[in-house]
Amino acid sequence: MVKQTIQIFARVKPTGRKQPQGIYSVDEDEKSVAALEIILPRDLAEGFVNNKRESYKFKFQRIFDQESKQEAIFDIIAKPVAESVLAGYNGTIFAYGQTGSGKTFTITGGAERYSDRGIIPRTLSYIFEQLQKDSRKMYTTHISYLEIYNECGYDLLDPRHEASSLEDLPKVTILEDPDQNIHLKNLSLQQATTEEEALNLLFLGDTNRMIAETPMNQASTRSHCIFTIHISSKEPGSATVRHAKLHLVDLAGSERVAKTGVGGQLLTEAKYINLSLHYLEQVIIALAEKHRSHIPYRNSMMTNVLRDSLGGNCMTTMIATLSLEKRNIDESISTCRFAQRVALIKNEAVLNEEIDPRLIIIHLKKEIQELKDELAIVTGEQRTEELTQGELDKLEEQITSFLEDQDPESRLQVGSDMRKIHYCFHHLKKLLNERKIPERSESSHEIKVQDGEVPLREEEFKKLRDILKQRDNEINILVNMLKKEKKKVQDMFNLQNTSRGGTRQSLSSSPSCGGPDDSSKASVSSTSKLTQDGSSVDYRSGFHRRKAGKSEEMSLGRQEAFEIFKQDHADSVTIEDNKQILRQRFSEAKALGESINEVRSKIGHLKEEINQRQMQRVALSITDNAVGDQELDPVEEKLRSKMEEEKKSYKMMFTRLKGLKVEIEHLQLLMEKAKVKLKKEFEVWWIEEATNLQKKSLPANSPRTLESQQQQQLQPYLAHKSELISRKIMPSPPPPSRIQKNSFNNPSVEESDLISKSPPPSPLPSRNYEKRFGNPNMEESDLTPGNKVPSPPPPSRNQKNRPGSPNLEERVLGSPSSSIPFTGDSQTDTDILAFLKARQNLLKKKGKHLSTE
Ligand code: ADP
Ligand code: MG
Repeated sequence: MVKQTIQIFARVKPTGRKQPQGIYSVDEDEKSVAALEIILPRDLAEGFVNNKRESYKFKFQRIFDQESKQEAIFDIIAKPVAESVLAGYNGTIFAYGQTGSGKTFTITGGAERYSDRGIIPRTLSYIFEQLQKDSRKMYTTHISYLEIYNECGYDLLDPRHEASSLEDLPKVTILEDPDQNIHLKNLSLQQATTEEEALNLLFLGDTNRMIAETPMNQASTRSHCIFTIHISSKEPGSATVRHAKLHLVDLAGSERVAKTGVGGQLLTEAKYINLSLHYLEQVIIALAEKHRSHIPYRNSMMTNVLRDSLGGNCMTTMIATLSLEKRNIDESISTCRFAQRVALIKNEAVLNEEIDPRLIIIHLKKEIQELKDELAIVTGEQRTEELTQGELDKLEEQITSFLEDQDPESRLQVGSDMRKIHYCFHHLKKLLNERKIPERSESSHEIKVQDGEVPLREEEFKKLRDILKQRDNEINILVNMLKKEKKKVQDMFNLQNTSRGGTRQSLSSSPSCGGPDDSSKASVSSTSKLTQDGSSVDYRSGFHRRKAGKSEEMSLGRQEAFEIFKQDHADSVTIEDNKQILRQRFSEAKALGESINEVRSKIGHLKEEINQRQMQRVALSITDNAVGDQELDPVEEKLRSKMEEEKKSYKMMFTRLKGLKVEIEHLQLLMEKAKVKLKKEFEVWWIEEATNLQKKSLPANSPRTLESQQQQQLQPYLAHKSELISRKIMPSPPPPSRIQKNSFNNPSVEESDLISKSPPPSPLPSRNYEKRFGNPNMEESDLTPGNKVPSPPPPSRNQKNRPGSPNLEERVLGSPSSSIPFTGDSQTDTDILAFLKARQNLLKKKGKHLSTE
């Protein structure tokens, strides 16, 4: 057992620009305790009526100042925890701090550079490296990734994430077994056999989280994410299995509401934005108080999940992330205060050893077999049940012929089966008793002889019988044990199924979450078995595979806008940079691969040379008759040392190549994620553009339904341009609805369909488009979340149908008098015009880009 208080560390985020001097200072002395002093600037301090203190001092295990690197954070904070997890103890590292203070950066890592990877990827790398090194034990590793948002748990590795919105996914809920252990229902455990697989799962979860987030619901700052690595280990032949979990927790932003400006509320206890963090604090306060019997774990899902990590069987570490700028002083101080309270909590980590019932059964079976064998030695034969009638008849026959046989040497041979021996005695006695009375006098001599012999035999017999009884008892006990273990295994299996979501159908969702409807649950249960089995394969490759298939969904106009958006976006620099690095790494890896091959063949040649040399020497020694020539051959020695050198460089290059491979994979995942992010931000921007357009052209305060928005969006435009258009492009009678449908759902139809109805313009707009922008088959377009068409249609849906061709637009917008018959359906035409307008707006903004192209 390891007793330890929760370790607390502080990390100060770099501010980028020069800080005014003296906001804080770090004081590190020799004794593994560091102090962080936060000094209130004069102007701020004056505001505090109730609190005149001007500086606050907080102690931490260690303070990582602005220039600290991710590597140091891993080495000092995470590595010791990972080590204890490998030894079989539970571990938790959680980051606490206000939004933007660097929690995600610390736990997961930055999105840009490989060197910015955070605790999770580094820990995975370290753990898998250690597991590979240790061949004494068998290890299995599983990953789970849980997000808690608004008291509801979501499985970030749920494969249905792609298809459904958060609300439709089965909620992860908490089950408590009679021993008060927590089990998470509907949280999948994905097996990861390599670092690569585990890393894929991390990125998959992060991407799922990003996609689920909408601009309205900035979930990422308000939700907690718990990435858990589950390791179980076993020594071959042993029945003991060790389980250990490592939780890596990215908590929600700890900021409190009521930042009412300088004075008033600052530095006082304000309300948390996030209630579950408030409950976390309550739990921490309760744990820090001595002799508190009740700890309010049950108040929130998060405290429930982390129950054994806070004040339980766990080695727990907290990282307080601080963004020490003037305006964040109050939040920083409350983060530090929280940390000080956390530091008072003592945890007792014990080894999570468990006897594997399956292995016990195997042991017991073996033991039983051994006992049976032993028994067989005593009884001479393996004993089963009662003797059969046939066996009894045969014995009687044997006895009769034995008695009848006049040969004094004859023997009754029944082997050493005690049952048969017993029966023989029994039968003989019976026969004897039957003959006793008439033949007594004659056989007196014989009896006398037997008298001398029987007592001795019976003694032996009794002894054997006792042994048999004893063995019988042993077997009965063992069989009982077996039965019990079997039942335990069954129970365990059931429970596991439950906690992994294998029996989803039987479980209801948490009432606070407003669970999904029954139909979705039913479909879930029918597929749950399937996902349990095939899941790991699906998920692991899922992140990459996600790319395929959706590229067709973005309409041309949208793609064009996306291209422009992409060019302007800050992240595109990162993506380009990473592409560059990736290219470099690839060519480096390629070169390395070639060098490795060269070295390999060099080693081969050297080996051959050595062989030849040896043969030559042998041949020489035979011809020269110099048999005893044991001297070392300097030439061969040289060859050998050369080979050793080559081998060394081979090893070095191989290690480097392995490292490169990991880096390349990580970079690819980073880029993938950046692209998804870019896509998302484009969607947001797109919607914003549309809304702006609407606002500009709409009279304020008009009641808005979405339908009427579209209508209204068009009206001012029509008014501006000309009444003529409205008359000419909207012929009556109203059109077939088929076209409207097409124009929404099938982007390929939109332009050409519309255009073909007019006298053929030249060149065809779509062609023109392709000429200018090339084939817009962008890989980025596949992950667009916004392509799910919701109803009623949001503005973005309008945009989707926007024709991408400037020609068409020019014709409509530029020359209002042109009489292009549109679809004929007023709704669709309205949409089209709205798109055109939005596009014009866009082009105006991005005019420079277009004109330079
Ligand atoms: P949080 O998760 O606490 O809201 P983030 O980790 O997202 O904060 O950090 C906010 C921003 O600051 C991100 O852009 C991140 O890359 C950057 N950042 C945070 N910590 C560091 C650091 N130590 N070094 C460089 N950049 C950092
Ligand atoms: Mg974050």
